[in-house]
Amino acid sequence: MYNAIVVGGGPIGSYTAGRLAEKGHRILVLERKLRVGESVCCTGIIGQECVNTFSIEDRVILRHLNSASLFSPSGNRLYIKREEPQACILDRVAFDIAMAERAQKVGAEYIFNSRATDITFEEDGVSVNVSCRGKESKIRSQAVVIACGFTPGLNRKLGLGGFGDFTTGAQVEVEMPGTDEVEVYFGDMAPGFFAWIAPTTPSMARVGLLSRKKPGFYLGNWLAHLAEQGRITSAEVELSHGRIPLKPPHRTYGERMVVVGDAAGQVKPTSGGGIYYGLLGADVAVKTLHQALVDGDLSAKRLARYERGWRKKLGRELRIGYWARKLYEQLSDRQIDRIFEIVKANGIDEALLKAEDLSFDRHSRTILRLLRYQIVARTMNLIKLPFKTD
Ligand SMILES: Cc1cc2nc3c(=O)[nH]c(=O)nc-3n(C[C@H](O)[C@H](O)[C@H](O)COP(=O)(O)OP(=O)(O)OC[C@H]3O[C@@H](n4cnc5c(N)ncnc54)[C@H](O)[C@@H]3O)c2cc1C
Repeated sequence: MYNAIVVGGGPIGSYTAGRLAEKGHRILVLERKLRVGESVCCTGIIGQECVNTFSIEDRVILRHLNSASLFSPSGNRLYIKREEPQACILDRVAFDIAMAERAQKVGAEYIFNSRATDITFEEDGVSVNVSCRGKESKIRSQAVVIACGFTPGLNRKLGLGGFGDFTTGAQVEVEMPGTDEVEVYFGDMAPGFFAWIAPTTPSMARVGLLSRKKPGFYLGNWLAHLAEQGRITSAEVELSHGRIPLKPPHRTYGERMVVVGDAAGQVKPTSGGGIYYGLLGADVAVKTLHQALVDGDLSAKRLARYERGWRKKLGRELRIGYWARKLYEQLSDRQIDRIFEIVKANGIDEALLKAEDLSFDRHSRTILRLLRYQIVARTMNLIKLPFKTD
């Protein structure tokens, strides 16, 4: 019998599998796709803190970033730059493969083209029903790690509850010569969210946006606009999209079970970035599950430590980030333009950039710092901050 079955061979599932295997556990990863990294939809931007904390290898990094241009709806530009690299763009396929290779090296087994269709929890273990090339089978383990990304149906089936909120991201990879910095656009090309251009090589870029409704429609319009400007030289583009949780499900653990990554809603609600928070959540899951396996106590009560642990690390960021996201979604283009004007005119951008705790990965301090400027808060019709600031 396996010590744990990890459902999902995405980056967070593979990372969790590798760390558990390293500790001597017998681990199986079930992946419904034919291979790791197949049809992944992601821009792959992670902060430097993530690169350092998880020793991300240089060979999976396409580009280091130390600057970005932010554009308001009317085209007002805020340029942010620091001397040191603040983030990087990953080759997401190479990153996923590297994570899986790391796990396999320390003994984790993988079965591809295998979808977990149901999970039964028994007195002495877990049975995972697997559908592979039209054949059904059952595989047993002591515990299960749910790492299958945004799959609300499975979460509900397992009694974890659906996601409190989610959005959709759409992206294309296009020829875009001459773009060498990340650009972020706010306004009606991506209502309530934002659109981005992330150059991966001197001639190629990932162009995408987040939207609650019709992401393909909005991205199509924006691409047409960029093509009109002569910035896109690709003849055809292939659009991919994926759902992004903005709030965690009701519960991320159960009897013999922990949930990690997007499946646990470990995603920045401000930007939709889930790689770093997923890896941080996975670290807590590994620690809790390893000790629970050693002690032979896989009860829900024992595994609740996992949820307490990851919420202690990320809970405040998720709460403030989600609150800020809802506040932002209510702003009109006019208000966003006004905030850009105020920030520039009052040197707020420079003050924020100088703050030691400005972080690509932790937005709460910057959000609260920005809203402490009364002139900004007033523009957002904000009367009182519902969070303590330090
Ligand atoms: C357009 C877009 C842009 C993004 N850009 C960024 C970014 O720049 N930075 C960032 O940090 N994040 C970004 N994200 C989010 C990021 O892609 C996710 O947070 C990340 O992939 C989560 O990893 P995961 O391993 O939890 O889930 P996933 O990567 O979704 O992996 C889950 C795996 O589980 C498998 N699976 C699902 N169900 C089953 C099943 N029943 N049985 C077996 N296998 C199953 C899937 O095939 C998949 O391989 C973006 C997302 C989108 C949509």
